[in-house]
Amino acid sequence: MEIKAKKSLGQNFLQDESVLKKIADSITTEKNDLIIEIGPGTGALTKYLKEKDSFLICYELDERLKAILKKEETDKTKIIFKDFLQANIEEDCKIFPYENIYIIANIPYYITTPIIKHIIHLKKLKSMTLLVQKEVAERLSASPKTKAYGSLTVYLNYYFNIHYLFDVSKFAFNPVPKVESAVINFERKEKLPDVKKEELLFKLINDAFKMKRKTLKNNLKDYDWNKIKTVLEQNDLLETTRAEELSLEVFIEIANALS
Ligand code: SAM
Repeated sequence: MEIKAKKSLGQNFLQDESVLKKIADSITTEKNDLIIEIGPGTGALTKYLKEKDSFLICYELDERLKAILKKEETDKTKIIFKDFLQANIEEDCKIFPYENIYIIANIPYYITTPIIKHIIHLKKLKSMTLLVQKEVAERLSASPKTKAYGSLTVYLNYYFNIHYLFDVSKFAFNPVPKVESAVINFERKEKLPDVKKEELLFKLINDAFKMKRKTLKNNLKDYDWNKIKTVLEQNDLLETTRAEELSLEVFIEIANALS
């Protein structure tokens, strides 16, 4: 059945079998693990994920794909037709007795951040592999002192070890998108960093990057600057520093000093 790609759903179907296989091979799962695929489309990646013999749940928004995708269902594979962002994941996944969750998705760029925010608190989340716009992958895996480094990157570093895996040419897709893509992996940290007050850390990170051109001091006017200054000095950073020069570790030191 020929499916006309819907732009509004970010439908660029991946056609290159070697790339599909490489993405599937980038995660290693056990029999009792659960893979969640977001946006299976016509099932191109789904078939490789099924070969892993783990539990598999796929969320697809486009009901036109029902006839194709329903054929993929087995006693270990379930396709759910709903908006992933509205899904109660833990509730839906109760159908399987899984141990760890692995998320994998080729997703439209405009839902990358909402997806990350929707899954970040899943207790059994082990890793997440995303095929995204190359620019987004660069931003999410950026290091301090680079242009791409931002509050989301710091926030993600708190939860994950982030690995930029490989680039994917736009010609691997049909229809061919305007931009290049890349595959990025987020591996959940076994132990989260020691932070006295998590909410304070997240608020600090947000406020620090509020106005990108401004110095940290300007963005953090409502905080006890003397305490922040002491941490900056200990890390050989000037008072005139900007948020993008601070690693997650320094943000944590500041948040703990303020707690
Ligand atoms: N995985 C397939 C592939 O690699 O060829 C399709 C990828 S296509 C870029 C993105 C898929 O995500 C589409 O099938 C689209 O319908 C689906 N999608 C978009 N937004 C979604 C959402 N909020 N929840 C679930 N699926 C969604």
